[in-house]
Amino acid sequence: MARPEWANWNGTEMPLSEVRVSVTDRAYFFGDGVYEVFRVYNGQMFLERPHFTRLRDSLAQLRIVTDVERLERRVRETLAHSGVREGQVYLQISRGEAPRSHSFPNPPVTPNELIYVREYDKDPYAAYRAAGIRVLLVPDLRWKRCDIKSLNLLGNVLASQAADEAGCQEAIMMLEDGTITEGSHSTVFGVRGGALVTAPLEANILPGITRKLVLELADRCGIPVKEQPFIASSLHELDELFVTSTIAEVLPIIEIASHTWKADQPGPVTRRLQVAYREYVVSAVGTATH
Ligand code: PMP
Repeated sequence: MARPEWANWNGTEMPLSEVRVSVTDRAYFFGDGVYEVFRVYNGQMFLERPHFTRLRDSLAQLRIVTDVERLERRVRETLAHSGVREGQVYLQISRGEAPRSHSFPNPPVTPNELIYVREYDKDPYAAYRAAGIRVLLVPDLRWKRCDIKSLNLLGNVLASQAADEAGCQEAIMMLEDGTITEGSHSTVFGVRGGALVTAPLEANILPGITRKLVLELADRCGIPVKEQPFIASSLHELDELFVTSTIAEVLPIIEIASHTWKADQPGPVTRRLQVAYREYVVSAVGTATH
């Protein structure tokens, strides 16, 4: 059985279940904060640098000031003390605690910084990676700055819940004009005529760390890439579909619920990228146990 999550709350380590936070934390009132999720393979954080770069960007956008280098050291120490070899690290920074009032506290308050490490008994997505998933198309109800990895995730929560209730493993969100943005917690890719298609990096999607790696791997594999908007009405032109994320890696889609698009099995381009991804993981962290 996986050990309980090991946390670091503002510099003090303890089991996650013992962390206590004031209800005046602005994350509680407003979702006023940012987060990152790192995959841990073989006791090491995968793609640590780009995750911290994105964290710095999100903090800067929300004008939350903290010492990210100190956080980097803290995350590494907490992971080492947790003893976890396979799992994930969650890092959250809220603007801090203050009486409820929309604008930033003035003078500024100290951010609250939470880290916790979750151990995996087994890779949670292994079976889905092999067999593929079913997805649900849903309207994208979110705000216009989805490039910021903020704690405000209600649109994503409702989308994910709708997918669950439809017996699907992920929700694919689309704007009113049919433009597909991203998954509730993943980036969406299509394959058309042998080329990868994915939405360009605009304010309506998160700049996925896995997205960037997959684009690099595609390049190395000689797979052409088109970063262009793709539209729900042209889904039938796609030979393959998959989603990516830090935790799911490259996850094939084999069916869209209540839609004609369907695949018998994960496609060859998706499979190639899955293999390339795993090879990259092994080269980055040594042999992964999962
Ligand atoms: N989009 C959203 C909305 C997400 O929550 C995630 C998961 N963090 C992703 C895309 C994929 O990002 P990454 O590859 O950095 O995990």
